[in-house]
Amino acid sequence: MVQNLEAEIMKKNKQIRSKYEQALESGELSLHYQPIVDAETHITIGAEALLRWLDDDQKAVFYPDQFIPLVEEDLSLMLETTKFVVQRACADIADLQERVPNLAQDFRVNVNISPSDIVQQGFVKHIQKQLSESAISPENLGLEITERQSLVALGLETIKAKIIRCREQGIHISMDDVGTGHSTVNSYTDSGMYDTAKLDKLFPDKTISSKLGTVYTEAVVKKLHEACASILVEGIETQEQAETFRDLGVDKLQGYYFAKPMPFNELVNRVATEQSNVIPVSSAPCATRNASNQQALALTS
Ligand code: C2E
Ligand code: MG
Ligand code: MG
Repeated sequence: MVQNLEAEIMKKNKQIRSKYEQALESGELSLHYQPIVDAETHITIGAEALLRWLDDDQKAVFYPDQFIPLVEEDLSLMLETTKFVVQRACADIADLQERVPNLAQDFRVNVNISPSDIVQQGFVKHIQKQLSESAISPENLGLEITERQSLVALGLETIKAKIIRCREQGIHISMDDVGTGHSTVNSYTDSGMYDTAKLDKLFPDKTISSKLGTVYTEAVVKKLHEACASILVEGIETQEQAETFRDLGVDKLQGYYFAKPMPFNELVNRVATEQSNVIPVSSAPCATRNASNQQALALTS
């Protein structure tokens, strides 16, 4: 009985993977972008590219949580997926820069990378190629890595060397889903290969709802800031959560409270509207930056 069920699931997964392979080849996959905002000003400072498998009516055929784990079982299919995502995202960044001429120079788009991609030959070269073909600066691209699988099992030294090569060029590296799987605060601080710690949705969802959880979150934020991490919290759904994490000293926020993932054109419109109301602050001294940003926020709201 159990064996039958397992065989049935395996057969279904194989069918989904083969359908996915066709979708990738025939260009049925696309990217949506979810804004990332400054925790103080709520101004969009970047976005995360999220893969979408949509039908003709723009409805999801499957969600990434359903198909990415299956794709990850086939290393070359995963790498093909990542190559597509990086290529599309780099082209979109170039397009965004052209369509929003006063876009902040450090506006960054993050793509999600499976750890198994990094160990494969040609990974760093592919990223470099995409950056140069789209003529964008490495600072405008970020990689989000979830340590779902242990990096030690995949070859930590190789991964670290490749990630450091990316970082040296200016590509920003985030540890995704901190607080889940092997994405722990200790592995963040020990590895020395990340710029940003992206705290998982479980922090706003569960951890900060108790007094003990809030004390724990404060300790996590303190330890990560001591390690010079920039901290982003994902899954922010309410104003209260946004204020709590801002007050805890978190740098960046992302979640449905600000915006859901959206097609590229909607991101362009959102950023263009914000930029047309923003006073440039990049050259302002640190002490006045927050005040200027607050003014910018007042103008946009
Ligand atoms: P992730 O990278 O941690 O992305 C965050 C997920 O949470 C996204 O789901 C996003 O739509 C969702 N989310 C964001 N804000 C909120 C919120 O306030 N509330 C709730 N309930 N959800 C929120 P999505 O797009 O379904 O992606 C799920 C996961 O699939 C991603 O988690 C990532 O691990 C993976 N994934 C998506 N696109 C890619 C890709 O291009 N490559 C790889 N390797 N993985 C991807
Ligand atoms: Mg992510
Ligand atoms: Mg995440």
